Amino acid sequence: TTDTFDLKAHIRGIPDFPKPGILFYDISTLLRHGPAWRAAMAKLAAAIRPHRPDLLAGIESRGFLVAAPLALELGLGFIMLRKPRKLPGLTIGLNYALEYGTDRIEMQADSVQNGQRVVILDDLLATGGTMAAGISLLRQAGAEVPCAAALIELTFLGGRSRLDVPFESLVAYD
Ligand code: IMP
Repeated sequence: TTDTFDLKAHIRGIPDFPKPGILFYDISTLLRHGPAWRAAMAKLAAAIRPHRPDLLAGIESRGFLVAAPLALELGLGFIMLRKPRKLPGLTIGLNYALEYGTDRIEMQADSVQNGQRVVILDDLLATGGTMAAGISLLRQAGAEVPCAAALIELTFLGGRSRLDVPFESLVAYD
């Protein structure tokens, strides 16, 4: 392709965060660079558009930073998948397993109309557990999930294979 935008140049790996032995991919450097941030959002918008979403969902909290600007770019609404007890009104939630222990995500029960096509977004796909839980929760709310997407994918963790929808990412680390 004639693509000259190097997204990896705007993402840094921070060793031993949040725990020793973990290399954390940090998008803060991308977010603070206007043109790079805009180029990344344009590329992700192009990857998502063919899946014809009605609505975009972001996973707290860095997923919000991906889904909300994309929703604006595509002229769509945006909904939040949040940590427990953050959302007002009637909520539905799903517990999911982590490496050690469990976590839970919630959304407002009336966020989606039956059969609406909701594309789910996060900053990064690691084991895929968070994204898989988000997809299940959206379906519980009545959504169809035509695709999931993230800026970054850690291919060595095989997260993509845990998802039963097409997955789009802009950069991969292995
Ligand atoms: P998973 O559930 O194992 O796929 O982990 C993905 C979730 O953890 C996402 O919500 C990410 O924001 C977060 N996460 C895991 N590793 C990283 C990283 O290296 N950088 C940024 N976020 C990460």
